[in-house]
Amino acid sequence: MAVSIPLMCDFLDSFDYEEPLSLYIHVPFCDSKCSYCAFFSVSGYRDDVKSRYVSRLVGELGELVERMKGRPFETAYIGGGSPGCLDVRSLYEIAGLVCRNGRPKEFTVEMNPDNLSPNMKCLFDGLFTRLSLGVQSLYERALEFLGRNATLEQTYRGLELSQDIGASTGCELSYDLMTCLGPWHDPLKDVQTLCNGFPSNHLSVYALTLEEGTPLFKRRPPLPDDDTQASMLCSVWNALEERGFEHYEVSNFAKNGRRGLHNCRYWDYRPYVGLGPGAASTAFKDGLVKRFDSKKSVHDYINGPCFGGVACEVLGKEEALEEFVLMGLRYKGGLDLGRLESEFGCKVTPSMLDGLDGYSVENGCLVPSNEGLLVADHAALEVINRLSRRLSQQS
Ligand code: SF4
Repeated sequence: MAVSIPLMCDFLDSFDYEEPLSLYIHVPFCDSKCSYCAFFSVSGYRDDVKSRYVSRLVGELGELVERMKGRPFETAYIGGGSPGCLDVRSLYEIAGLVCRNGRPKEFTVEMNPDNLSPNMKCLFDGLFTRLSLGVQSLYERALEFLGRNATLEQTYRGLELSQDIGASTGCELSYDLMTCLGPWHDPLKDVQTLCNGFPSNHLSVYALTLEEGTPLFKRRPPLPDDDTQASMLCSVWNALEERGFEHYEVSNFAKNGRRGLHNCRYWDYRPYVGLGPGAASTAFKDGLVKRFDSKKSVHDYINGPCFGGVACEVLGKEEALEEFVLMGLRYKGGLDLGRLESEFGCKVTPSMLDGLDGYSVENGCLVPSNEGLLVADHAALEVINRLSRRLSQQS
């Protein structure tokens, strides 16, 4: 049951600061809304509203950093929305505070190509370790179809600048692409142009889905059917593997072992604090799994008390187990069978894995092969059903 807990201490007391902790910061501003986007973000806000958002965020972050007792965050990620909608000085202040106890092992900032500017280079000198750029496509028609703010020319300019920042500061680069837009769009050409012209150690490739409430959902453009989508995805996956990328999560590819550590922490079901309107947090303490959701309102965030408008839900054991399995089976880190037993009381026997194609046990984890990643959600449901049956037999 969701319970509203407006007091700062309730929220901050829920985390175990002796354990590695990750941080997510949600910047809820965008220059304009993309047609397909269902993330919480707003456009058209004035600079004074953004300043008040930054003040509130810095206040909350300061309280959190105090609790860390001199320890750095394990990983940190500033996403949105579009963090590039904030000015460089604000980003510098936020990033500096995140790094007050030391630089996280990985500290990512998301940017859109049209927001990235040369004066942001200073943010990668000793603060951010990684830049994730939302390219989406190198087809003009695709950018228009998706309602992206960036033109093709701005997208190329952002890519060139990202390469320059990567070369001069040593930060890691990650690019996002979208696929399954329609028969007029060739995702392989996007992959080829991007990889040949703008090398990086990380790519995320997402299939377009029509999310309820978005302009694209209302327009209902004809999208490829399921079989065509699956074959498009497979051809993109194969092309990336031929270029030396490891397909390590359903939508993510890494070269030279540079998996995205922050997202791996989510898939490993590890704790993280989310700050900003619309951010979620997960805490594990005293045998409880708590999920916090911050209200999706910029107005309430900047006008309410620190950590106000955060709803808390204590997850039941079955719900937490389902999340743990769903996350673990969709990436190559795999589902940790030791934790399944120690934290959820579920011992997996070999017979329980009979007929589970595309998965094998490696170093105590149930790990998908490339074929397994294609059916990850189906496999997770199957494993959850088998575990639930086992649990009900035990009780
Ligand atoms: S820039 Fe990103 S967060 Fe903003 S509307 Fe577009 S997809 Fe959504």
